[in-house]
Amino acid sequence: MQRCFIGLGANLDNPMGQLRAAITALTTLPNSALGRVSSLYGSKPMGPQDQPDYVNAVAEVYTVLSPLQLLDALQQIEQQQGRVRKDERWGPRTLDLDLLLYGNEQWQCQRLTVPHYGLAEREFVLYPLQEIAADLQLPDGRSIHGLCQQVARRGLTVLAPAPR
Ligand code: ATP
Ligand code: MG
Ligand code: MG
Repeated sequence: MQRCFIGLGANLDNPMGQLRAAITALTTLPNSALGRVSSLYGSKPMGPQDQPDYVNAVAEVYTVLSPLQLLDALQQIEQQQGRVRKDERWGPRTLDLDLLLYGNEQWQCQRLTVPHYGLAEREFVLYPLQEIAADLQLPDGRSIHGLCQQVARRGLTVLAPAPR
């Protein structure tokens, strides 16, 4: 059983509703259990600025799925919620589910890099992570607490309490 963290993001078609639906979908992952879920946060977009603000959250999942099985399941949920993959990087989307951490493991293949490569620089990942796992450390030993002190909130706000 591995303790994993999933980063959720949405900025189209009722983003808060998308995140709530995604949390419900995470409760149906096979051979897994949903743990803590952060508040819903509002954040500014990365990359192209001509798109709506984002709603973000982080969820803890305990699973015996392999990293790639978990990624498959997460991408299936993205598809179910109407994610259309476009060429533009970081463009608007109904739902993004990123595998942030898979236990203490480091994993690198064509489809998957874990820990997620942007984790240590993204305020909309670090602050929700700190909310639900304040004592967490990355596999390289850096603490979430320390990373939050280095990364500005950049307009990050709490929009709503955790959906469960
Ligand atoms: P970013 O990865 O910078 O947050 P994004 O989430 O918008 O951007 P996607 O279009 O969702 O990017 O994913 C592009 C590819 O990233 C996916 O097809 C997937 O194979 C790959 N990928 C690599 N590492 C991860 C990870 N840790 N979690 C989710 N997808 C990953
Ligand atoms: Mg992403
Ligand atoms: Mg993604």
